[in-house]
Amino acid sequence: MRKKIVAGNWKMNLNLQEGVALATELKAALAADKPNCDVVICTPFIHLATVADVVKNTVIGLGAENCADKEKGAYTGEVSAAQVKSTGAQYVILGHSERRAYYGETAEILKEKVNLALANGLKVIFCIGEVLEEREAGKQNEVVGAQLADSLFDLTDEQFANIILAYEPVWAIGTGKTATAEQAQDMHAFIRGCIAGRFGDAAENVSILYGGSCKPSNAKDIFSKPDVDGGLIGGAALKCEDFKGIIDAWK
Ligand code: PEP
Repeated sequence: MRKKIVAGNWKMNLNLQEGVALATELKAALAADKPNCDVVICTPFIHLATVADVVKNTVIGLGAENCADKEKGAYTGEVSAAQVKSTGAQYVILGHSERRAYYGETAEILKEKVNLALANGLKVIFCIGEVLEEREAGKQNEVVGAQLADSLFDLTDEQFANIILAYEPVWAIGTGKTATAEQAQDMHAFIRGCIAGRFGDAAENVSILYGGSCKPSNAKDIFSKPDVDGGLIGGAALKCEDFKGIIDAWK
């Protein structure tokens, strides 16, 4: 049975004190009302070690939003997968469309990052998704299929077992425009088919999350689809009540 997951992506929001306050509030909310899914928060690097202490021995998993494509050494300002792991984090988001678009992360760079993250014992939340022009041209399957193949298809079955996928149509991220539940299901089924073609039965076990303006009011509808295993949540992960509302969509 594949896991249901709701993961938050805080992006470059919240200072350390605000981040600790949000994690503390979420911890209390989920202790009082246990979730029916795995819950992960992905925070800026500087929050990780402190938030790791807050969420220790709770149902909340912790992840980074990125890691370096180099193992270690003279790469000023970078943070390695090993350093992420040493904070107590268990996950890392890779391939987010903002990293691809603003920081020039190519499929090759992402392949390096994925390998290093897995080698250091992190689970990877790997993001894929088309931009608006690609969807309007009917090219979304081609684009997403290539993103999967170019960065993940050289993994072994054992490595792939630690991958979580997040389908995030770029036109729906932070725009208030959500894919319809049907659009999400169509793409998730396509993705699962691509994974089946390369990794066989692992396709049934890989969790595929939807991301893009997911909120308490639309999460239940989207999560009700058979190939949608949860969500990667941006804006709505910054308020405990909203994030908890999405987690509760699994109830
Ligand atoms: C994201 O950036 O991963 C995301 C899904 O953002 P939002 O929920 O704000 O659209």
